[in-house]
Amino acid sequence: QPLVFSGVQPTGNLHLGNYLGAIRRWVALQDEYPCLFCVVDLHAITVFQEPEELERSIREVAAAFIASGIDPKKHILFNQSRVPEHAELAWIFNCVARLGWMERMTQFKEKAGKDRERASLGLFAYPSLMAADILAYRATLVPVGEDQKQHLELTRDIAAKFNHDYSDRIAGKGLGHPIAMGDETVQGYFPMTDPLIEGPATRVMSFKDGSKKMSKSDPSDLSRINLTDDAETIARKIRKAKTDPDALPSETAGLAGRPEADNLVGIFAALDNRSKADILGEYGGRPFSEFKPALADLAVAKLAPIATEMRRILDDPAEIDRTLRDGAERARAIASRTLGDVKSIVGLLNG
Ligand code: ATP
Ligand code: MG
Repeated sequence: QPLVFSGVQPTGNLHLGNYLGAIRRWVALQDEYPCLFCVVDLHAITVFQEPEELERSIREVAAAFIASGIDPKKHILFNQSRVPEHAELAWIFNCVARLGWMERMTQFKEKAGKDRERASLGLFAYPSLMAADILAYRATLVPVGEDQKQHLELTRDIAAKFNHDYSDRIAGKGLGHPIAMGDETVQGYFPMTDPLIEGPATRVMSFKDGSKKMSKSDPSDLSRINLTDDAETIARKIRKAKTDPDALPSETAGLAGRPEADNLVGIFAALDNRSKADILGEYGGRPFSEFKPALADLAVAKLAPIATEMRRILDDPAEIDRTLRDGAERARAIASRTLGDVKSIVGLLNG
């Protein structure tokens, strides 16, 4: 049975990119597959977080999931640190993954900046914890934004190396499953994860700089639309979003070399469940001064109800905590079985 796993870090300022690239797509998947949705708080602290802010932010991300339409009764919604198996499996994966693999990770390079020596060890090992998040449930479907593609490839590398290093032991313990690797099928313990990176908004760009992705951690609030922004703020940010002076092209080919235009058209398409070609069919030849107000109206219509619902949910933090605790209990029931298998495969006495 294929399982979906995905997460968002409680690092503040949930934005349109998180919504269109991840959360909104989860809502559709939950009708088809059993899902686990995680507030990845252990990932958040790879960069220092003020403790009170972190607590607030964990509840806010959970509220955003529910307000966007995630059903915490049918599926599993929890915060990562409540299921200690994530950190435990991550340690084992730290011993499977190679330094050279981690050194190639572009997210680390970007987040560590010039002063690498002062980045946390956790930030470097981040992809190994992410592999553990997914593989603790042996999930194969991971809907994420484009920026996580490289980490998902590393998840596959870790799974493949674990299966290979311990193949005799996996077979000996009868814990092997048929796993498709390219054209051949091998026996292994961990499945190969498929990234689900689809649609017109897998990489929503900053409103200030068309070459940077929209991010929670961008210091400029004008660079992003937060899920909690009110109508007026959304309209103002779209009005101020950087664009070029030309009119919109009538075909998608005309968006090449125009990252800001491409971004706004992609956002419009995603919010309206249409294709970029369709949007350009309507707005091609028209100036941004006409397109932007239409985009602002659409964004407000789609996002305002979520913000209202988030505020309502956040009024009762105790209820959010109950939901997260309940989810963690159900998640743990699955993850602890995986850890039991993994320990017995690796040779860690655990009886
Ligand atoms: P941070 O800056 O703290 O890393 P973030 O904005 O990158 O925050 P994450 O919590 O790291 O958010 O990512 C959560 C999910 O949102 C991931 O699936 C990620 O791929 C997706 N995502 C993040 N930014 C964007 C974006 N600009 N466009 C599309 N998807 C995005
Ligand atoms: Mg990120």
